[in-house]
Amino acid sequence: ETTLGVLGGGQLGRMFVHAAQQMGYFTAVLDPDPSSPAGRVSHHHIQTDYLDPQGLAELARLSCAVTTEFENVPAQALEQLAATRPVAPAASAVAIAQDRAREKAHFVACGVPCAPYAVIDTPAQLAAVDESLLPGILKTARLGYDGKGQVRVKTREELNAAWAGLKQVPCVLEKMLPLASECSVIVARGADGAMVNFPVQRNLHREGILAVTEVFEGNLPAALAEQAVAAARSVATGLDYVGVLCVEFFVLADGSLVVNEIAPRPHNSGHYTIDGCDLSQFDLQVRAMVGLPLVQPRLHSPSIMLNLLGDLWFAPGANEAVTPPWDRVLALPGTHLHLYGKLDAKRARKMGHLNITAATPEAARAVALQAAAVLGLEAF
Ligand code: ATP
Ligand code: MG
Ligand code: MG
Repeated sequence: ETTLGVLGGGQLGRMFVHAAQQMGYFTAVLDPDPSSPAGRVSHHHIQTDYLDPQGLAELARLSCAVTTEFENVPAQALEQLAATRPVAPAASAVAIAQDRAREKAHFVACGVPCAPYAVIDTPAQLAAVDESLLPGILKTARLGYDGKGQVRVKTREELNAAWAGLKQVPCVLEKMLPLASECSVIVARGADGAMVNFPVQRNLHREGILAVTEVFEGNLPAALAEQAVAAARSVATGLDYVGVLCVEFFVLADGSLVVNEIAPRPHNSGHYTIDGCDLSQFDLQVRAMVGLPLVQPRLHSPSIMLNLLGDLWFAPGANEAVTPPWDRVLALPGTHLHLYGKLDAKRARKMGHLNITAATPEAARAVALQAAAVLGLEAF
């Protein structure tokens, strides 16, 4: 019995567990929530805090290698585990991804362009902010996701108020850029430096949350796609990264590419890989952490992913959650429904995703639009 450990019990952990179990591994999940999506499907579920030394010791005892599914896992927890077990990604890489200021400094060091920005840790730094960064987005350096911990500011007065409102924690102010589109690249890198990548994903966000991912040949201009893959690879190499890494990009109105941020784990924009590629991002996470061969994954079908947020469970103005009409969605060809087993639906909560695969991009799009209409999702 060989057991793989994962810190965090959310949906990313759950899909990791599925991939690991398919390959015959046992799994151990550490997450304090007794009803966590991954904990409920894992062989072992350690229900302690991420920093509990006993919980971590138990995870290390059970597991031959450990990964993380959650980027805000304390770097200290990874360090404790790394004392006795291989841990991928390493605490040093996760620590950079957890801090927007360090992350941006890393992009600069790799020669990959990012949005003009300023670090704001002190009132003096706030006062010294250059006007050219406005209008901008003030983002907390740590712990933000799905657009949380971000305030859009047009003027210096709004910036000052926003920083006060964020409780004056360390922040980064980024210049607001004119986005033509957004995309991401997921790479998997082994301890030996071997690296493979998925094709470039074109992403649509709504209210700071990923809504739609489209992947097919020609979803973005070829030169841009190549540039994104090269940039993602240099970001991973620069971190001496081991595991699955997602790099998010902005495509600007003038066609140039700017890196946004990284996620040191499988990513929502890679969920289509479960049904659209011959290897999923979770398969590669398993392989990378145990040192099995990484081979270049192949997109075998044009794919579209629709994120299923908790809002879908609520009619306008309703308080009671109602299960969406999955039967009508699954009547459409090439639909693959993934639900994370979360016990209660809440607005803006990621409950699942719908993958659509088809023979052509046009066919995938037609089905995706039909599914969106059935579910009451905005067209795209
Ligand atoms: P995630 O859940 O992806 O980690 P996050 O909370 O870290 O999200 P960001 O990726 O920083 O948030 O921003 C969320 C979205 O806001 C982006 O995908 C983009 O649509 C928009 N956005 C962020 N920064 C900028 C910017 N500098 N200029 C224009 N739009 C931006
Ligand atoms: Mg983020
Ligand atoms: Mg993001």
